Formats: sequence, C-alpha cells, structure tokens
Amino acid sequence: MTSEQSKKGYMFIVSGPSGVGKTVLCNFIVDKYKPNVVYSISTTSRKPRGGEKDGQEYNFCTATEFEKEIKENAFAEWACVHGNYYGTPRKFLVDNVNAGKHVVLNIDVQGGMKIHEQYPEAVMIFILPPSFEELEHRIRGRNMDSEESLKKRMINARKEIDCSKKYKHCLINDDLEKAKEELEKIFLSYMN
Ligand code: ADP
Ligand code: 5GP
Repeated sequence: MTSEQSKKGYMFIVSGPSGVGKTVLCNFIVDKYKPNVVYSISTTSRKPRGGEKDGQEYNFCTATEFEKEIKENAFAEWACVHGNYYGTPRKFLVDNVNAGKHVVLNIDVQGGMKIHEQYPEAVMIFILPPSFEELEHRIRGRNMDSEESLKKRMINARKEIDCSKKYKHCLINDDLEKAKEELEKIFLSYMN
C-alpha cells in the first residue's frame, strides 16, 4: 500500500449476476461498518421496484435526464444493463474516498472494469450463485421482475459469470451467513 492510498479509502466493487445476493451482502457490510464504509447510490433510468425509494436504493431519473448527466461527465462509469441506464455518480465516490471513507459499489461487470481501469487499487469482488437453478429461484422469490425481465437477467447471468475470472476475489453465496463472514474477511483485510 502506498502512503497516498493509506490516507484514502478503498473502493470495493461488488459484482455478480442479478439475484445472487449482492444487495443483501453489501447492506450487511455498510450497516456494520458505517460511517467509515458508505454505499455508492447509483443513478438509474429503471422504474422503482416494490418499496424502493428515490435517494435510498437508487437515484431514479428518466432516460433523458440520465443522458444529460452523461454529457456533463457526472458519472465515473455508466452502462446500459437489461435495457436501462445505470451509473455511478463521480462526485460522491471521489469525495468520500478522498475523505478516507471506504465506498461499496454494487455494479455490473462492465462498470466494475471501467472503475478498475481508472482506479487500479479498487478491490474487485465477485459473488457467484451455488447454481443457475438457485439463482432463478432467488429472482422469482424476490417477486419484483416480469417474466421478460427474468429471462434477460438469466441470459446476462451466464455472460457475467464468464467475467468472474477478471475479479481478484470470488465467493459463492450459498449459505448467507457464511457468505457474509467471507465477505467481511475480505473487507477487513483491506480496512485494517
Ligand atoms: P442482487 O442485489 O444480487 O440482485 P439481492 O440481494 O436482491 O440480489 O438478493 C436476491 C434475493 O435472494 C433476495 O430476496 C434475497 O433475500 C435472497 N438471497 C440472498 N442471498 C441468499 C442466500 N444465500 N440464500 C437464499 N436467498 C438469498
Ligand atoms: P437491479 O435492476 O437488479 O437493481 O440492477 C441490475 C444490475 O445493474 C445489477 O447487476 C447491478 O449491479 C447493476 N448496477 C447497479 N448500479 C449500477 C451502476 O451504477 N453502474 C453499473 N455499471 N451497473 C450498475
């Protein structure tokens, strides 16, 4: 670790197929280690699901508003995932890391790679499902996706999992409590 890095916080990129448990696992870490660990709230043009609130899970906007923010260079990275825009607000990320906070980014593989290109010290973590059957079961159990959206997510899952080899840390989310422990160990190995 360079002395420059020691003053700054780490970026933890958490990727993996939709429904694998990234949100549950990221929330566990952020809740346990706040305020030193903060969640990067992405901006998206997708519609809120279930009880999602603007400014909590995501900053929700229209596709036109998102495109305006792209032009203003407001995103550290952005991607089109399952037909919707998703992006990481640059200012929040940079300000927090510079203030010594660790930032958790729950983003897809394309976004993870773009952040890693700009910030090679970002910690890359990939969450794998125990099986495709279980992944589909979790997406269905979440009860928030149409049949069409579920199909897109399952097709994308295979492509995303192919990219897991580009990630430094991979863990399987089978038993949730064990996955939490494993993830926490990875975080602590950088935070201490
Ligand atoms: P993602 O953020 O990767 O799309 P979520 O965190 O929303 O996934 O999890 C998808 C669903 O799977 C949720 O209903 C969550 O409670 C459930 N889930 C997460 N991890 C496990 C696990 N280890 N075993 C069973 N269900 C899980
Ligand atoms: P969901 O619609 O299930 O909330 O998210 C769909 C996918 O978009 C997930 O793989 C999630 O990690 C990804 N995602 C969420 N926010 C961002 C972001 O800011 N940038 C990128 N590239 N992907 C994101």
